[in-house]
Amino acid sequence: MTTVPHGTTPAALDKALAAFTAELGSDAVIGEPSALREFRDPYTYLESDEFDASAALLPTSTEQVQAVVRIANEYGVPLSTFSQGRNNTYGGSAPRLRGSVLVNLRNMNKVLEVNTDLAYAVVEPGVRWFDLFDALQAAGGDLWPSIPDLGWGSVIGNSLEYGIGYTPYGDHARNLCGLEVVLPDGSLLRTGMGAMDGNVARHVYPHSFGPSFGGLFQQSNLGIVTNAGWWVMRRPETYASCWARFRGYDALGKVVDALRGLMLDRTIESLPLLNRGLEIDENGAMFLDPEGEGWSARFALYGRAAMVDAQYAVVEETLRAIPGVEVLRRTFDSTDLTGPANHDERVQRGIPDMDLLDPGMLPYGEVTGHLDFSPVGPNTGDAVVRVEQLIRSLYVRHGHVQVNGLYLMPRSALHISTTFFDPRDEEQTRSVYDGYADLVREVAAIGYAPYRTNLQHMDLVAEQFGFGDHAQRRLAETIKDALDPNGILAPGKSGIWPRRLRDGV
Ligand SMILES: Cc1cc2nc3c(=O)[nH]c(=O)nc-3n(C[C@H](O)[C@H](O)[C@H](O)COP(=O)(O)OP(=O)(O)OC[C@H]3O[C@@H](n4cnc5c(N)ncnc54)[C@H](O)[C@@H]3O)c2cc1C
Repeated sequence: MTTVPHGTTPAALDKALAAFTAELGSDAVIGEPSALREFRDPYTYLESDEFDASAALLPTSTEQVQAVVRIANEYGVPLSTFSQGRNNTYGGSAPRLRGSVLVNLRNMNKVLEVNTDLAYAVVEPGVRWFDLFDALQAAGGDLWPSIPDLGWGSVIGNSLEYGIGYTPYGDHARNLCGLEVVLPDGSLLRTGMGAMDGNVARHVYPHSFGPSFGGLFQQSNLGIVTNAGWWVMRRPETYASCWARFRGYDALGKVVDALRGLMLDRTIESLPLLNRGLEIDENGAMFLDPEGEGWSARFALYGRAAMVDAQYAVVEETLRAIPGVEVLRRTFDSTDLTGPANHDERVQRGIPDMDLLDPGMLPYGEVTGHLDFSPVGPNTGDAVVRVEQLIRSLYVRHGHVQVNGLYLMPRSALHISTTFFDPRDEEQTRSVYDGYADLVREVAAIGYAPYRTNLQHMDLVAEQFGFGDHAQRRLAETIKDALDPNGILAPGKSGIWPRRLRDGV
């Protein structure tokens, strides 16, 4: 039976599905519940229907996306967009509002341009990290993408979610330059300099004349992005993949302070990732050891060989001055694609892989559920140690094991802890999600909030942003109501509900 969204009648949904089919063709409309299972959030309880979609549409052009939005308005049917829909641990492809129709952009997957001189690409939403990497290689290999740890996601979806990678271009939202967006009324907007027909700076200058609207479409429900410029890095002469290893919170605080100094003076321009609980054996294979006390920091250096040697000498001297810290590197010629053999070496070189989903490494094999808790705070040793210890103590209180990932930007630290569970086990899954709510409240008490969250907790996280009697939420709702008066785009995304659903769903 079709899942009808709250606020929509079954008859209106049927009419909308018929109109979508007339517009896109029957092959591009998936309504069969068994076929829709592919788009579930894989990390919710296996039998749950809480975030089921009613259908999925596969448009192939901007014009088709515009037609879909107009039909949705006509019948009052909510849409939920994804690009690749691999947003696993933050909801996968599933809609926040049960019964929404998914707009699946996987078939809009062309790399529209690679500009080697100016180091950018223009991509459609379905372009995966694997596809971007291949396109840059085909264009001569002089450009490297920053990539997240898994290669199957999309450049646009990940960047709109403020996703992260590990090169100097690792803050992916900042690489977006010039979006093309279908607005909730079906009209088309180009952001930045692209707002002028034929403007030649569309993908190279990030601002506009007057206000810049690109940020309105990040983690929001105000438009559907149909292509975007995306900045990439120029291939350096040499690349060094580096690690520091140490044990205990005392060393952690000192290493964080040292890395911040090295980032602020631009000795290290990559974005370091520190881990506890994820180890690498002598063959480069990863394994989980959630009870372990060992930390590893990975980071990278890029540039001319002499520069990389000089930077490494400074890094080594600074980090080795901290008792118990071991530092090592492996250096590669930048044209060497096979030398970077393990995941850390590849990901910091922009070579995508899927190693982190290796079922052999995960406690419940292929079905293993992950829940990431991702608060952000300042990048100082004292602050980092305090919140890492608090988070760990909360997991212990709940009886959940976790691995810590600590992602450093020059001024901020993203504390991304992951707990693993078996989504076939309802009680265990519920306990992990309930525990997360507790984590949100406990860290809010000391001024921390997640930068990104899962479907279950969007309202709770939005609730923490209460300054000025929820001034931010009220502004978001005002914009939502003005742009999307029928409330059809992703109701509830990031805790932003359209007027018609604000009394609860
Ligand atoms: C083991 C593991 C490792 C991970 N490592 C990382 C990591 O290193 N870095 C990282 O950032 N994440 C990481 N993630 C989280 C997640 O898997 C990735 O961010 C992934 O790239 C997101 O999926 P996607 O790119 O397919 O985005 P999508 O699922 O396509 O999109 C994400 C969201 O963005 C919005 N959206 C998408 N496309 C559009 C559009 N065209 N218009 C308007 N809105 C849109 C929607 O709200 C959608 O739900 C990891 C997850 C796991 C399980």
